[in-house]
Amino acid sequence: MTRRADPEIAPQSGGSAGLLTIDLDALAANWRLLRDRMGGPQAGGACAAVVKADGYGLGALPVARRLAAEGCTTFFVASVEEGVALRQSLPEPEIFVLNGLLPDTAALFARHRLAPCLNDPEQVKSWLAHCARSSPSPAALHVDTGMTRLGLDPDDLDELDLDAANALPGLILMSQLACADEPGHPLNRQQLADFAKLRPRVAAARASLANSYGLYLGSDYRFDLGRPGYAIYGGNPTPAAGANPMRPVVRLRAPVLQLREIRNSRTVGYGATARTEPPAWIATLAIGYADGYLRSLSSRGGVIVDGCPCPVTGRVSMDLLTVDVTDAMRAGSEIRPGTFVDLINDEHTIDDVADRAGTIGYEILTGLGSRYRRRYLGEAEAARPAQGRA
Ligand SMILES: *Cc1c(COP(=O)(O)O)cnc(C)c1O
Repeated sequence: MTRRADPEIAPQSGGSAGLLTIDLDALAANWRLLRDRMGGPQAGGACAAVVKADGYGLGALPVARRLAAEGCTTFFVASVEEGVALRQSLPEPEIFVLNGLLPDTAALFARHRLAPCLNDPEQVKSWLAHCARSSPSPAALHVDTGMTRLGLDPDDLDELDLDAANALPGLILMSQLACADEPGHPLNRQQLADFAKLRPRVAAARASLANSYGLYLGSDYRFDLGRPGYAIYGGNPTPAAGANPMRPVVRLRAPVLQLREIRNSRTVGYGATARTEPPAWIATLAIGYADGYLRSLSSRGGVIVDGCPCPVTGRVSMDLLTVDVTDAMRAGSEIRPGTFVDLINDEHTIDDVADRAGTIGYEILTGLGSRYRRRYLGEAEAARPAQGRA
């Protein structure tokens, strides 16, 4: 089988690093699908985008720039530092900071027009005091209905000046679902009921409950503003139902450094945990746990060579991965130093890799390493105005 010449993987700067391709057209299509689930802007439904942790590892700036061009006007980041960086490239949209308002940071938020998610009564009081001194500015009241992580206790609302809060422009009332990936979990209904009960008390706010999974729980979970992250990046928001309605966004490839023909029985890798018997071929790839290819994928992960699945054999090293490519060789693949093979693609997705690693796709995405060459498809779209596009 002859490999098609692919200009993307022509050796540059040595060509020995992995290649991470991020499809912003697919990402934009995913966001539009979620926005349409919210009823779309015409129906008054709005969809934010969560771009914390550098856009789930895919690059907060290119991701947010593209989504802003698609019409997304509300972004969530984790830290104020992430917010400042995003504001520098996006002057227009609202940016909410999930980690909240730490003491003495109100001026920093104001300077960069960042909106804090107010997570305890002190934060609410301090933001309201700041707004009374300068000007009323957007914020979110984050109420905890089941995570016991960040957020106001519902009882905390009793001691707050809700009239002053209701007068803030751009106010959001939000809560986070703990079990939305399990549609039958009773905590979903409980959190929904508790959130719905709070909503009239903060009547001026846009209510926001649903993350990616929440958008697929039922229309009563959607409220005014969707708050998806993972599904935008191609993760499956309906794991219980099976088929993923999202388009894959990420493709990860790594080059073969060496191909070993196995002529006698021998062990592979650290700890000699795997054995290979002739006739066989082991390809060693330039990727390892230092690149976020998790060590738990030792003898469990798989790569795709010309459409042929090939198992990882032996332990994942820091910079190297050993793969049994015997089946691909038998099928006629030409594998030699410099050949790129797929570790994540449309057939072997972030959710598949996560299953094999015993984790979730979020950890696969946010762990994607810094040594990859990154290529963005569809980046030029971000420069065009949103008007007149589907
Ligand atoms: C991360 C996060 C989200 C997005 O969740 P996904 O599961 O990625 O859709 C929404 N809201 C809050 C509070 C979060 O921390």
